[in-house]
Amino acid sequence: MDKIKMTTPIVEMDGDEMTRILWKMIKENLLEPFIDLKTEYYDLGLEKRNETNDQVTVDSALATKKYGVAVKCATITPNAARVEEYDLKDMWKSPNGTIRAILDGTVFRAPIVVKGIEPCVKNWKKPITIARHAYGDVYKNAEMKIPGAGKVELVYTAQDGTQTKELIHEFDSPGIVQGMHNVCGSIESFARSCFNYALDTKQTLWFATKDTISKKYDHTFKDIFQEIFEKEYKEKFDQAGIEYFYTLIDDAVARVMKSEGGYIWACKNYDGDVMSDMISSAFGSLAMMTSVLVSPEGVYEYEAAHGTVQRHYYKHLKGEETSTNSVATIFAWTGALRKRGELDKNQELMDFANRLEKATIDTIESGYMTKDLALITTMEHPTVLSSEGFIKEIAKRL
Ligand code: NAP
Ligand code: MG
Repeated sequence: MDKIKMTTPIVEMDGDEMTRILWKMIKENLLEPFIDLKTEYYDLGLEKRNETNDQVTVDSALATKKYGVAVKCATITPNAARVEEYDLKDMWKSPNGTIRAILDGTVFRAPIVVKGIEPCVKNWKKPITIARHAYGDVYKNAEMKIPGAGKVELVYTAQDGTQTKELIHEFDSPGIVQGMHNVCGSIESFARSCFNYALDTKQTLWFATKDTISKKYDHTFKDIFQEIFEKEYKEKFDQAGIEYFYTLIDDAVARVMKSEGGYIWACKNYDGDVMSDMISSAFGSLAMMTSVLVSPEGVYEYEAAHGTVQRHYYKHLKGEETSTNSVATIFAWTGALRKRGELDKNQELMDFANRLEKATIDTIESGYMTKDLALITTMEHPTVLSSEGFIKEIAKRL
């Protein structure tokens, strides 16, 4: 059999611990036998990040800008324990944070839906994709405890020194205050990433804030989305047969619970933080959740939503058998391969990505799965496989 050819490389970001082990197995069993895999390889494993003073992370993000498509393995975000474990020169920043800052992107998270792993919400039939704005609001706030009576104001000092003030509260007893901000440029990037992703995946886009209460702050989000939509996207949405739909956040939450899924829900930073945990746990498992970072210029970085599965890795190091779920990592690869195929007009590569996803889903739906899924499936007598056994079972069907 001739292997599928690629014209442009995918940026490959290797990672840490158990997911690094899965990464190698996926390439050897599911990709390299079928594709003449062309990647530009960056080792984001913690040792290499330490050795290069984290330059390798920056380089991989710049390469992603150049080529347009990347696939990333989960990586350790160092904390004090990791600094000791890996004898690090510094507590390097989260690679995802570094990459996101360079690409200025929005993260879209979607569950992988299979029969036998049923969502807790019984009417959810299709995935619900969450898009979380990743800048500002309460995550970059300033707070104060107010010890007693006194006046608190917002003060804006323009460059020419003129001041505008707004009373927050006239305290007559102790209390608390909080100031937060966002910038229009970031909201605009967020809006464009959401509209582009909706067109890309042919799904309707929902956006919700509390604009009735927050008449300037949240209302600005609503206005920016509306303006960009009308000017740049309305026609394209009509052609694609999808909608942009704005509503109040409480109405959105109520509708989400009653819906059957199959749309993108764009959220402000805090709403996205909270709602993505609700969506992923209600759909079953973090190991069945994919994540893609999309920049406003249309650069894509695919990954799994879970971490490096440290506990399984330590078992693996002791020579014990593991049963780690590789589905989200496989779907990170298929997402990247399909996008590469789309950009390069490489139909064979796109078809391959679809077949690999189908083989993966078929494997689970035939009752072959890893332990995490066996614990939550509605199927009777599932066959529990090891990390490698599961990947080999997919390869058979592929
Ligand atoms: P984690 O790797 O997501 O794992 C937490 C637990 O969830 C595991 O112990 C396991 O439960 C279960 N789990 C997660 N993924 C699984 C899979 N594919 N198959 C089966 N079970 C799975 O989170 P963590 O242990 O908190 O973090 C480990 C490291 O990952 C940290 O150093 C963190 O910095 C990093 N991290 C990286 C990313 C990223 O690169 N995007 C994201 C999050 C965390 P059981 O042990 O009960 O089986
Ligand atoms: Mg959270």
